[in-house]
This record gives sequence, C-alpha cells and structure tokens, in this order.
Amino acid sequence: MTKYIFLTGGVVSSVGKGVTAAAIGRLLKERGFSVAVQKLDPYINVDPGTMSPYQHGEVFVLDDGAETDLDLGHYERFIDISLNQVCNVTTGQVYAEVISKERRGDYLGGTIQVIPHITNEIKRRIGLVPKTTGAEIVLVEIGGTVGDIESLPFLEALRQMRTDLGRENSLYVHVTWLPYIGATGELKTKPTQHSVRELRSIGISPDVIIARSDHPVTHDLIEKIALFGDVEERAVVPLITALNLYEVPLVLDRLGLGEFLLERLGEKPRRKPDWDEWENFVTKAKHILPEVKIALVGKYVELHDAYFSVREALEHAGLALGVDVKINWVHSSDLEKDKNWEYVKQADGVLVPGGFGSRGTEGKIRAIRYAREEKVPYLGLCLGLQLLVVEFVRHILNTDEPNSTEFDRGTTYPVIDLMPDQRDIADMGGTMRLGLYPCELQPGTIASAAYDQALVNERHRHRFEVNNAYRSLLNQGGMVFSGISPDGRLVEIVEIKNHPFMVATQFHPEFLSRPNRPHPLFLAYIEAVAKRAGVIDTQHPINLESIESRKS
Ligand code: GLN
Repeated sequence: MTKYIFLTGGVVSSVGKGVTAAAIGRLLKERGFSVAVQKLDPYINVDPGTMSPYQHGEVFVLDDGAETDLDLGHYERFIDISLNQVCNVTTGQVYAEVISKERRGDYLGGTIQVIPHITNEIKRRIGLVPKTTGAEIVLVEIGGTVGDIESLPFLEALRQMRTDLGRENSLYVHVTWLPYIGATGELKTKPTQHSVRELRSIGISPDVIIARSDHPVTHDLIEKIALFGDVEERAVVPLITALNLYEVPLVLDRLGLGEFLLERLGEKPRRKPDWDEWENFVTKAKHILPEVKIALVGKYVELHDAYFSVREALEHAGLALGVDVKINWVHSSDLEKDKNWEYVKQADGVLVPGGFGSRGTEGKIRAIRYAREEKVPYLGLCLGLQLLVVEFVRHILNTDEPNSTEFDRGTTYPVIDLMPDQRDIADMGGTMRLGLYPCELQPGTIASAAYDQALVNERHRHRFEVNNAYRSLLNQGGMVFSGISPDGRLVEIVEIKNHPFMVATQFHPEFLSRPNRPHPLFLAYIEAVAKRAGVIDTQHPINLESIESRKS
C-alpha cells in the first residue's frame, strides 16, 4: 500500500516548506524508496501559468507541459525525479472538475457540497500520484499556512485520509517558525503552539514538528514544543536556516529524520544513504571560490524567485567548475534609460531569461548588442533567443524596425512571429507550446559539442518562434541554427559565429539542471564566462583543501 506524508505549514509562509518537503523526499530516496511529491495550492487560478511572476514567482514547466508552482522545481532537483501534471493541484482545478461533472448531470440531482464532493475530488487527485508515478511514498505539501480559509477543504481531505489509509500509512509533518525576539535575545515557541492547536481543531494531530529558525534551538525549547505539541522529543526537528539550500537534506539526515519517518511508516531502510555527491556539492558551495559575475537582464529582477531555476542552474554549473556565480540583477527598463549599465559592463557574462510582454524588451536588446559586439559570453533563454534574433536582423539590415509581433504587431520585419497553430487561440491558459519536444543538434556547433548528443529533449513554454522566412538572411549574416526540431520547422537553438559563446535556446534548459548533473549548455556557458574572467584553468581543477572555508 502507498504510504503518505502530508506537510502543512504553520505561523508564517515562506519558511521553506517546499525545500523541506523536497529534502524529506531525498532522505527517503536515499534509503531505497521511490518517491513522488504533490503540491496542493489553495488559490482559485487553474494553474500559475497565467499569474504574474510578481505574485507567484517562477512558473515551473514539467515534461508533460504542466505549468506548475516553483516548489515542483525543488522536488525535481532535490530528489532527481520527473513529476507529472497530477503533482500540482489547485482549488481552481478541483472546482472546475466538480462543476463540470455537475453540469453533465453526474451527481444525479444531489446537492453539491464542500464535504464530500470537493474533498472527494481532492482525495481522488491525491490518489492519482501513486497511480501515475508508481511511487511507494507520496509526499503531499499544502500551500499557505494553517488558519487560511482557502486551505480548509484540503486539510479536511487530509484529515479523512488518515482513516482511509490507516495510521501506519500516513504521517503529518507540520513546518513552523520560531520568531526571535531581539530585545530579550530569545526564540519563541508560542506561535508554534498556537498553530498546532489550530491544526488539532481541524482534526489533524501532527506526528512531526519541524521548527524552522534563524538561530540555534536549545534543548529546552525542543522539550517545550514536544510537550505542547503532544509529540515525542525525537519528533521535534529544529531546522536552522542553512547557508545553502542543498544542505537541508544533510541537516535533516543528521537529525535522524529519515529513520524516524520510516519507523513511523512501519518500514526499514533498504540501503544506507550515500551522501558523497551531496556533501561534495555542499562543501564547494560553502567554500570561497573564485567569483564570476553574470548580468541577468530581466523584467522581474526585484523578485529573484521569478528566475529560480535559472539561478539554480547557474549555481549547479558554477560549482561543477569550481567557481562561485554571482548574479548582477539588472532591470532591462533601466538600461533603456541609460541607467545601471555598469552592472552589465562589470559582468563576465550576460543572460537574458524568458519573459512576456513588451516592457523592457528594448533594454534587453541593447544588452544583447553589447554582448555581441564586445564578445561577452551570452546565454539567451526563450525570449532571450527571440530578442537575439531581433537584434541580429536589426544589425544586418541596419534599422531598428525588425521586431517580434508580440511587441509590434504591424512591424515590416516580423522576424519573430506567432506559430501557425497559435493564431486562432483565444484562451490564454495552458495553450502555449508546452513541455518536452525534441531538438536535433547540428554537428560542428557549440551546442552539439556541449551536449555531445545528436538529439535532445527539452522543456518549452512559448507562443512565438523564429520566422522561417528570415532564416537565410540570418544565416548569411553569421547566425547558425545549431538546434532544429526534427521536422525542420522550428528553430530551437541559435548561435553566432566568431564569438566565444553567444548561444540561445527557444526552450528552457534551466528546468532540467540538477545539482549533481548540471545542464550541458549552462556548463559550457559558465566555462566561457570563467575563461573570460580568467578564473579557471580546466586542466587543473580546484583543490578544496587549499581554500579557506566560508564562515557560516
Ligand atoms: N513571450 C515569448 C513567447 O511567448 C517568450 C516566452 C518565454 O520566454 N517563455 O514566445
């Protein structure tokens, strides 16, 4: 029978419940269990695909094209698994399903209510996770914090599941926050006590309390939480903010959480965890390494979460090469006002990530022109490819008229245009070209050398594409199409000749990067960046023993 671990949050949000869930998943995988994770989001949008990154952070895209919460990125990266669309459920999806069944007459005249109709639909969707992934242990994380009106139906469904599944097959983990009172210099457990009480009033008693904190948690606090939370001391896990996210599984492992969870689920570890690779990665992350700077030129740069996977992919590649990637966050609109160019000019590489809408696109184009002319390594992701193509045609034709029809519908040179199958689409939600599609690499290019493969599958999220009518002009000008869809219709990767590294992709390679398996294109990019910065010697990899350890 499938075992379930349900994670709820208490006190405040943004304390790293997603990372905690991901880390727990890793603890179980390391002990020989197959794991999947599902996120239940209490908002009414059907998915985050139509939400502003300012509201929601990055939209993480799965193999099957589902547009999901960025926590799914944590799950995939930490556990090294590929999830599917059933792994992110929203209130919007649940209600849409129930209402469409009602319209079809499936309820035979019954009155449709939150309990049991909505809760049954939630439980059905939870049950789809083991069915579609084959996972033995399913982790279910509920967004928000206990006490939110929106999350009540989800919590009620979880409460019912304990009876449906039996005690030995289900566990409740409550993640809370211990605030620090500066005046007295102490951590407070009262909000945790209250949130456990709130959870109990809904009928859920936590089996484990993970107490997040920015400060060391003394034993008397653990005793107090155990007493008021009615759990044994072993079940109170203090989790102090880590210097690096990837340290969290190691910390939880040292605190014995892996064994404890399995014991409570009536299981025994099937193998001894092997943390060598992780330890290695985290050790590098905590050392002072030679620094390289990337100017990330985007539209939502105030909110770093909007580019979460890009940031992670840069870190994975950097650490693999023994360099510390620092990001200069540059607002593209500032560049249009001739502001903040020093952040671009100080950097050893320029990166333009994905994006939508016209605001700031001219600033991005100017940053791309700078990278091309000054031979600064450039990586473009999705919109970053489209704007590179726009910039290049502008350069060839010596006019600023060429554009994407996303930003200028009437341009005389529509070098980036809607894909033909996108023209008649009226609905905005879930209708882009989404998910995994193949890309054939052209031999002799930077991209094919980086991948060392002939065919790759990458995750997409776009509506516009390179207008094929401009291919020969671009080619003659010195642009190479290093990745093309197997049917030859879509440009997937472009690069510029006679430039150390100017590569851009129509897809999002950042979604497939893993801490222990950096993405080949990010690796090749950071290598070019580090060479320009003069900080790496690929012949003589970095020796950690000789480097000073960073203070925590
Ligand atoms: N706005 C562009 C498109 O829809 C690029 C999308 C993206 O960068 N993800 O094609």
